Amino acid sequence: MNSQQSLQEDQSLPNGRDLALPWHLTLPARLESAFREQFRDNAARLIPAATILMLLVYVVAFAVEHHVAPEATEISWRPRLLAAMVTVGVLLASRHALRWLQPAVAGMALVVAGIHLYLGLSVDHPLQDAYFYVPFLAILLLGSLFRIQLYWALPTSLAILAAQAVILFGASHLSDAEALVITAFTACATVMSLFGQYFFERLQRQHFLSDRVLHLHRSELHAANRSLESQATEDGLTGAVNRRGMDVRLSNLLHNMQHQARGAPDSIAVLLFDIDYFKQYNDTYGHQAGDECLKAVAEVPKAMVQRATDFVARYGGEEFVIVLGGTRLRDALVFAERMRARIERLGIPHRNSKSNNVVTISIGVACTAEGVDSAERLIHLADEALYQAKGAGRNRVACVDDDGSVRVLTP
Ligand code: GH3
Ligand code: MG
Ligand code: MG
Repeated sequence: MNSQQSLQEDQSLPNGRDLALPWHLTLPARLESAFREQFRDNAARLIPAATILMLLVYVVAFAVEHHVAPEATEISWRPRLLAAMVTVGVLLASRHALRWLQPAVAGMALVVAGIHLYLGLSVDHPLQDAYFYVPFLAILLLGSLFRIQLYWALPTSLAILAAQAVILFGASHLSDAEALVITAFTACATVMSLFGQYFFERLQRQHFLSDRVLHLHRSELHAANRSLESQATEDGLTGAVNRRGMDVRLSNLLHNMQHQARGAPDSIAVLLFDIDYFKQYNDTYGHQAGDECLKAVAEVPKAMVQRATDFVARYGGEEFVIVLGGTRLRDALVFAERMRARIERLGIPHRNSKSNNVVTISIGVACTAEGVDSAERLIHLADEALYQAKGAGRNRVACVDDDGSVRVLTP
């Protein structure tokens, strides 16, 4: 489940201050099914131990029965085998068919109660009344040992209680007083067991809800943090990296290059560009149009950078820096010239520009080399080249060559 989905799902959650559950405990539909799944998964973890315990109880009961009344085991072994098989069925459901786990446990309790009521009627032995107490245990095992959900435990317990009452009062050899005592025992077991189950499930549900609310708040916090982080390093107008972000990213890139970190580039090119006659542009078309122009111009290099280490930053008013990792001077010049031409081709009218009748830029390019290993130095060199490009008539690229001299390229 992705976080978007889980956020949507959790819209139905209480807001964190109010985790109160309704008396019937049922949550909104999607949460309810998520809770049931979690409850079942938790219950399934206990099943192997619980089934082994049950099988042990069957063996001990059979042994005791065989000791006390060997003739009874001649009748009881088949129903007992059935109970053991149903118990193994519960174990299998917990491993391979979780969907069937709760009905399997309910079925097992019904079988255990049923066969003992049957044995109470069929076995003729002074201790046969003991069988009539077993439904009482069957009810207890639902909530305490196998931890099935209240909505399964409730009808199953009531069914066992009713079947027992009908058989004891209607079909057994017991007097009404004896039948009443045993039924009262079972009724007490039912009430206690369901009461315990109700509060156990209430706690589980509350825990589930607080977990979800916590998760929701954590995701919101993460999202807010991410947005704050990008706001802190992003230029609001153009969406380029801001000056602060540029300083951090360029220094990191240089640091990685110098320490030959894995995936780090072996050279870095810095392109510094400045819009030509932008003051006149603002004066002619207004500040608002100037902003639009800045946005349009910034989109060009943003669409051109490709590698994860490359980025476009707004250096100052109408000056931008493009950092290209793993790029040498020759390729950086090709990039710069292509960018210059594309911005010229945008054809943003600029009637008061002295170099053209559309908006143009001048670019200074510098690359890492011997002695050129800091962000300040790189930018300084690119700025020197930019100054020369401006001086040579604007709308052109200039670079600092390997020998440190500045060369202006003709467009
Ligand atoms: P040059 O060709 O030498 O670069 O001339 P220029 O007029 O572009 O140079 P200058 O640095 O003198 O002018 C830059 C102008 O950019 C001045 C300022 O009003 C404008 N500017 C800076 N930031 C913004 C901005 O965010 N929006 C707008 N609309 N204008 C800006
Ligand atoms: Mg400027
Ligand atoms: Mg300018």
